[in-house]
Amino acid sequence: MSVRPAATQMRELAEEYGVPFLDVALIAANAEGARPLRDYPRARMQLRPAGSDEVWQIILPFDNEQSRFEVADGALRFEDEPIADVVALENDDVVLTYLRAGGRSITLNTHSRSKCTGCMFCPNVIEDASDDTLTSEGELAELLEWLQADNGWTDLSHADVITVCSGCFHYPAMAIEHMAAIRRAAGRYGFTGRLHLLSSVLRDRDDLARLRDQAGDFHLTLTLECFERRTLLLKDTKASLTLERSAEIMDDCRDLGIVADFTYVAGLDSYARAVEGISYLAPHAGTFPRIQVYQAHNDYMRRARHRDAEDLRYFLRLRGELEAVFAPTGLAPRSWENYRPLWYSSFNGRPVAGPRV
Ligand code: SF4
Repeated sequence: MSVRPAATQMRELAEEYGVPFLDVALIAANAEGARPLRDYPRARMQLRPAGSDEVWQIILPFDNEQSRFEVADGALRFEDEPIADVVALENDDVVLTYLRAGGRSITLNTHSRSKCTGCMFCPNVIEDASDDTLTSEGELAELLEWLQADNGWTDLSHADVITVCSGCFHYPAMAIEHMAAIRRAAGRYGFTGRLHLLSSVLRDRDDLARLRDQAGDFHLTLTLECFERRTLLLKDTKASLTLERSAEIMDDCRDLGIVADFTYVAGLDSYARAVEGISYLAPHAGTFPRIQVYQAHNDYMRRARHRDAEDLRYFLRLRGELEAVFAPTGLAPRSWENYRPLWYSSFNGRPVAGPRV
């Protein structure tokens, strides 16, 4: 990043933009990454920021020799000033399942996420893989039974949502069948909550209707990611999804009773296009979109960052503009849905809802 404010300057930026220091520091850490640590390409961390009694989850790339952030002496340090205690830290491999919100949110990587390649910014190429491809209802049921036993749960009736995080379905029918199989398998263990899929292959209204019929209560997150340079940055199957089509799909979802939103990676587009595109989509979203700070995992990925976003002010301004954009919708972010958001502790002057992990 060309602008390299020290901790005091970062506090001044927090003041200038009316953003809590905690949020500014974590946005900066995501955008910059940290200095190498052990042989971890990325690490999942639980942090207790200075001045906060809460523990937050954050996942950082550890590859940037030039970064002002490093983990040392049990703390995340910014230019040698400790800004958060490190409560836990582990290598961020692609695991088969993980939990958020104390187990109310279950994420499954059941469809070869680690084997998916083609998006320039995707960390799959550098992460260790411990995920799998489970296709039959029986295999999925076995996984859910193991998850239940491993956590000492009597069933899965407490869970609000099961998310499948995968860009690897090549056809709508594959995605629909996989989600329907998860619905049937999870139903065996008392799950009656919502299924959630992140994907870009489900676009036609008929497919969405089939999804709703076969998989029940549903949340679809369109993996849109960016508005500019789509063919350069994204795999072909995602690049073909346009802004206008995304709005239409979200409208169809609303008609069919499917909650819909989109992913967006802040830092890939020019500032003007980022605001314009998200403003266009906001009225069509049924829940707050997954807006993530762009993380580069090596010098090659760093070159994909838009030059506008080399200044931390890009993210702080965008944060403020998007608060105004989303104000009329009544939608707001929730901590456990996004580990690298623009909003950690506050959104539009209000606290962001927890839990944080
Ligand atoms: S679709 Fe792109 S971002 Fe998603 S897992 Fe595949 S390569 Fe990664």
